[in-house]
Amino acid sequence: MAMARGYAATDASKPLEPFTFERREPHADDVVIDIKYCGICHSDIHQVRDEWGGSIYPMVPGHEIAGVVTAVGSAVTKFKVGDHVGVGCFVDSCVGCAARDLDLEQYMPGLVPTYNGREADGTPTMGGYSDQIVVKEGYVLSIPENLPLDAAAPLLCAGITLYSPLKHWKAGPGKKVAIVGMGGLGHMGVKIAAAMGAEVTVLSQSLSKKEDGLKLGATHYYATKDAETFKTLAAQFDLIISTVSADMDLNAFLGLLKVDGAMVLVGLPEKPASIHAFGLVGGRRSLSGSMIGSIKETQEMLDFCGEHNIASEIEIIRADQINEAYERVLKSDVRYRFVIDMATL
Ligand code: NAP
Ligand code: ZN
Repeated sequence: MAMARGYAATDASKPLEPFTFERREPHADDVVIDIKYCGICHSDIHQVRDEWGGSIYPMVPGHEIAGVVTAVGSAVTKFKVGDHVGVGCFVDSCVGCAARDLDLEQYMPGLVPTYNGREADGTPTMGGYSDQIVVKEGYVLSIPENLPLDAAAPLLCAGITLYSPLKHWKAGPGKKVAIVGMGGLGHMGVKIAAAMGAEVTVLSQSLSKKEDGLKLGATHYYATKDAETFKTLAAQFDLIISTVSADMDLNAFLGLLKVDGAMVLVGLPEKPASIHAFGLVGGRRSLSGSMIGSIKETQEMLDFCGEHNIASEIEIIRADQINEAYERVLKSDVRYRFVIDMATL
């Protein structure tokens, strides 16, 4: 067993604090990773504060992990010491499950989240706000060498969460895509959708980030607090992806879809939404959801980002700034992902 250092939440109402814990002895199929950087995802905040229920404490959050391999088990074939690697939102899934063959393991009940979950023997999993992690080879991703590790870390959740629905709903040339919310997920959606060739519109609460949105690849940028936006953009989009983390009126957005258009929710607000059937029925529109992506699709996304030189816009913080960063995320004061430098632990 190795002792790891990290930051943990001890209950839903307290700030995170320094924490020491044991990582398992590596098995033959394990990769040992020296964590260099970890992104702060809004899901970390939802879970630390138990907004989705069932949180396990103490909790070391973090599922946007980027680091360097320091050791490999005897059966590991894909990685060697020194490789740049990432770990995303899960570290195990049902063995031999058909969904894994279909590359849909993220939707299976046997999924083991990187933190706030339990391994097969019941041990709580601990995430990436820490200096090292031991992960089965099959759940470790290769980070392209041309991407800096700090800015690549957020691809492991924010990147794949947008790549997967953009690909599934066929964003590309000739398609009009709207991204709702220009935060950690949203800004990755803008970059990836633009690289796929779609015409991208950002729907943000205000125009304060307009210049950035256009630089990142959007062609249009509108404020949702302006009622005119919903008139101007009526029936315009093939695809709308909502990354919004708080309650919002989905009905207003459904009116922006073309006939057969789809609105996909990736943001996970605490409270349920209410939908008027008319918004879907008139226009044969659909409302759907999407969760991260499979390991295979995550590797495909990382390779795509490597080819297109896409990484996240980040603000590096020290480990002792995590609590302050959470407050800033909650105020939408993030440009566009906080990434913790583990050398500061
Ligand atoms: P984030 O950086 O805080 O971005 C969320 C954005 O939503 C904000 O930047 C803001 O954009 C907008 N927003 C916030 N409050 C709002 C409000 N009251 N009304 C309207 N818009 C509001 O968070 P994130 O890390 O991107 O995560 C976003 C959500 O996705 C979270 O709920 C997270 O748990 C979830 N998530 C889901 C998956 C999945 O697999 N489905 C994966 C990761 C995260 P503007 O300032 O531009 O308005
Ligand atoms: Zn996440």
